[in-house]
Amino acid sequence: MSSIIDQVSKRKTLAIISHPDAGKTTLTEKLLLFGGAIREAGMVKGKKNSKFATSDWMEIEKQRGISVTSSVMEFDYNDYRINILDTPGHEDFSEDTYRTLTAADSAVMLIDGAKGVEAQTKKLFEVCSQRGIPIFTMINKMDRETRDPFDLLEELEEILGMRSYPMNWPIGSGSDFQGIYDRKHQHVEIYDASNPNKVKIYPVSDIEGADLTELLGEAAHQRLVEEVSLLDVAGDPYDEEKILNGDLTPTFFGSAISNFGVQSFLEHFLFMAPAPVGRVSSEGYVDPSNKDFSGFIFKIQANMNPAHRDRIAFLRICSGKFERGMSVKHPRMKKSIKLSQPQQFLAQERNIIQEAYAGDIIGLFDPGIFQIGDTLCGGKEFTYSEMPLFSPEHFSRVSIKNALKKKHFLKGLQQLTEEGTVQFFESTSGLDEMILGVVGELQFEVFEYRMQHEYGVDMTLQRLPYQLARWIEGDSYKPALFQASNAKPVKDKQGRHVMLFENEYSLRWAQERYPDLKFHSQSNFS
Ligand code: GDP
Repeated sequence: MSSIIDQVSKRKTLAIISHPDAGKTTLTEKLLLFGGAIREAGMVKGKKNSKFATSDWMEIEKQRGISVTSSVMEFDYNDYRINILDTPGHEDFSEDTYRTLTAADSAVMLIDGAKGVEAQTKKLFEVCSQRGIPIFTMINKMDRETRDPFDLLEELEEILGMRSYPMNWPIGSGSDFQGIYDRKHQHVEIYDASNPNKVKIYPVSDIEGADLTELLGEAAHQRLVEEVSLLDVAGDPYDEEKILNGDLTPTFFGSAISNFGVQSFLEHFLFMAPAPVGRVSSEGYVDPSNKDFSGFIFKIQANMNPAHRDRIAFLRICSGKFERGMSVKHPRMKKSIKLSQPQQFLAQERNIIQEAYAGDIIGLFDPGIFQIGDTLCGGKEFTYSEMPLFSPEHFSRVSIKNALKKKHFLKGLQQLTEEGTVQFFESTSGLDEMILGVVGELQFEVFEYRMQHEYGVDMTLQRLPYQLARWIEGDSYKPALFQASNAKPVKDKQGRHVMLFENEYSLRWAQERYPDLKFHSQSNFS
């Protein structure tokens, strides 16, 4: 029993959220190098790397040279087991990216110091913020000219509504970048552009001391003293509770490419970030150290290996101990299943695992029995809360070219919506109108490709002008209310009322016009 507690307490499961090009791949790689999980740089993303890209992606992934779905990486460092959930960012940004965040216990928000908070970071932040998980901010690329650090912190507050606590403070940036001052440990880490991997640490007994002037030069020292005293006086105080509730973000400055500030970030993170926490189920709160195994499926990846046409279901363990070959209950299917081929992931290499604990992610061979959001449990039967649907950003009307194929189409639609490839909406106007919604446009291509190759159905997708879906709460709602507007009333697959809007402006109009109604960006608002 105690060994389960020990195992849980050494685990940290995180997702890195960022806008493309902020340096997520670079940071992930440096973290994996620290943990000894990889031996050389350049191993993480298959995107530009043929060694991994050729492994076993489905055809469409190969054609486009990108991965459609994300992977999980784990490594050990200082007696911790760290699981990094990859959140795809480029063209492969999809609803999977949001779903993956539901499996993380904390997030690392990576920001390009020259660009500040960008669109994709904001979207991912909002999902994390809604869950109330702690968010650690890393401001990257300090070796380049960046924006003023105070401006960047202000932007976190203005755009994200998030207050910050700088754990360290940069000393210059770009060609003047000299390093960081660690406020907690009270030392300076000196950046040496000619040898960035070798960090020199100087303890600081008095931040105003002459030795620092000598080290940094008068102007840089003066500025550091002023800025740090401003933080001490006017900044938010360090507040562990706020950090753990996701109301205050510990903020770090560094340069991932130079491996500068990465190790100190990792060590602070491991000290501060939560171990796996309990989750709410139909039977109440389930503690991660509970002896009975349980977990939920947050992602299904189809046809990783086209030769086998198999699917892998990604399960986040929430309690107990997983052992290879164990039998578990599958409450939705009302049956027992044996978990005989579990896999853990490092980049895209598959390893068979023997045991795992809360916080770990395992890949289960799926002969078609899993859906996104399914719970598996070893002891008493219960289910974790439903996996939310997230607002799509692209919508298409779908029709099939050959009406005789309707049965195949419906079968494929059933399967692919269960896997989370697309969301399905039905018009409430009485017309037999079927609408698909996706977060990332590539999902449409995957859907079309798979419908054609796996179900033999050719379709026509006609793009619609909507950009947002909102699940509607309120007794006064009637689809007819929106007859004269540009918004479109629909129902989702579960029959819940949803409104599709063309833009934020028309959403705001609806919110003002109908103050009794609530418009939710996720399906699980109750
Ligand atoms: P991702 O799209 O977020 O995964 O970003 P990548 O890790 O692929 O990085 C995008 C680009 O930024 C690459 O050219 C990296 O070499 C570069 N980059 C990443 N981190 C840093 C950094 O700390 N400093 C500088 N100057 N460039 C960086």
